[in-house]
Amino acid sequence: MNTSARQRLNDNLAGVEERIANACARSGRSRSDVTLIAVTKTVSTELALLLPDLGVFHLGENRPQELWRKTGESGESATGVRWHLIGHLQRNKIERTLPLVTWIHSVDSLRLLQAIEAEAAKQKRTVPVLLEINASGEASKQGFPGVELDQLATVTPGLKHVQVRGLMTMAALQNPEKCRPTFRVLREMRDTLLSKLSDAHRCEHLSMGMSNDFEIAIEEGATFIRLGAVLFEGVP
Ligand SMILES: *Cc1c(COP(=O)(O)O)cnc(C)c1O
Repeated sequence: MNTSARQRLNDNLAGVEERIANACARSGRSRSDVTLIAVTKTVSTELALLLPDLGVFHLGENRPQELWRKTGESGESATGVRWHLIGHLQRNKIERTLPLVTWIHSVDSLRLLQAIEAEAAKQKRTVPVLLEINASGEASKQGFPGVELDQLATVTPGLKHVQVRGLMTMAALQNPEKCRPTFRVLREMRDTLLSKLSDAHRCEHLSMGMSNDFEIAIEEGATFIRLGAVLFEGVP
C-alpha cells in the first residue's frame, strides 16, 4: 500500500479524532466512552488493514460474505483487529460468521437472537449483540419489532451464550441536527431495557452515528460510532 494512502488516511483520522474529542467535551463525556468502528465495506482488505497500524482496531462490515472474505485475506497482519458485523445476518450464515466477530450489531428479531444463542452454545462461545431498532420510523428500514421487544425480558434469562448488550440504529440521511430525536428515542429505549433486563444482559451500549451525524450521536450518548466515508474520503 503506497505511502500517500496511508498519509491521507492518517490525516482523515486526525480530523475525525478532533471532532470526536470536541463532541465529547461539549457533552461532558470521556473519549474512552466512545469506540470508533471503521466501516471498511467500500475499501480493500489491504487498505482496511492500514487502520490497526494507525491505532484503530475495531473494524466493521455490513455483509457477512464480505466479512468472511476480508478476514480470510487478513492473516497475521490483522493481529488485534476486532470485527463487528453491522448489517443483516441471515440464519444460514451464523455458523461461519460467529468465530470471526467480537460483536453483532444488527439482531433484528427474536428468532435470529435465538438462532445465534443455539449456534453459540454449539460452538461454546459467548457473543455480545445489539438489537437493531428502526428508531427513525422510516418504512424502508428493518428493526426489531416492538412486540418482540416487549417479550425480551422473558426470553433473556434463557440466553446463556448471547448477551444483549445494547441497541443500534441508523438515522435518516438528512441534516444531522434532525437526527437528534432518533438518537434520543434509542437512548430512552436503552434506559428502559437497562432497568428491565438482568445483569448478564447489561444493555448499556448505543451504536449510533455515521459519517453524516456522529457528533450529534456522541452528544446523545453513543458508545459505538460507525464511520466509513469520512475516514476513507480522498484516500487513493
Ligand atoms: C456503511 C455503514 C456505515 C458507515 O456509513 P458512512 O456514512 O460511510 O460513515 C455505518 N453503519 C452501517 C450499518 C453501514 O452499513
